[in-house]
Amino acid sequence: FSGQITLDGPSGTGKSSVARQVAQQLGAHYLDTGAMYRAATVAVLDAGVALDDKVAVARAVSAATIEVGTDARREKVKVDGVDVRQRIRGAEVTRAVSPVSAVPAVRRLLVARQRELVNGADAVVVEGRDIGTVVLPDATLKIYLTASPEVRAQRRAGQLGVTDPDKIAALAADLRRRDDYDSRRADSPLRPAEDAVVVDSTDLAQEETVAKVVALALD
Ligand code: C5P
Repeated sequence: FSGQITLDGPSGTGKSSVARQVAQQLGAHYLDTGAMYRAATVAVLDAGVALDDKVAVARAVSAATIEVGTDARREKVKVDGVDVRQRIRGAEVTRAVSPVSAVPAVRRLLVARQRELVNGADAVVVEGRDIGTVVLPDATLKIYLTASPEVRAQRRAGQLGVTDPDKIAALAADLRRRDDYDSRRADSPLRPAEDAVVVDSTDLAQEETVAKVVALALD
């Protein structure tokens, strides 16, 4: 395979695992753009600026050195030289990432970096919300991955080792809140590109979803 594959969709669809495995099977590079928005959020939290101060948020993001790797076999996420792979998955960052990623200047900056990181790779899988619509409109293959909210909450719970039904309900509420926030934004990235293939993974095991995307890529 050579070319660009975009994998967009809401949180909790298993997008990251699917994208990474597709990249590994195709021998392609992999870019997790959600990790970039999460790393930008770390920079904002550390700068101590108010999340609703768009100018200060954008300034904090542009002042930070954000490094995200494109090796599908080894995750690399650094902010000002510090490894933040664990921290970006924590509750503090997850709570703050939506308002940070809604700031237009932050998106402009990160979209430009995403294009730079992808240019030059002859095979790459890029995962996010607006990759097929905004970042790489001329991609070779565009996938929009969906799943029911219940299934998404259960999968997230499984990843986190959560079994308490109240906590699973809280995860479902958090997913709905983030979807809602992401889709109400002015540039509304949470919709499939017109030329995207919609893959509903509600009733698919992860390997089946991966196999489906790989088959589409090699078609
Ligand atoms: O995919 P992940 O859950 O790590 O993304 C975290 C957040 O980053 C999303 O909830 C969304 O607000 C934002 N995001 C975005 N555009 C992308 C990728 C992520 O706005 N391309």
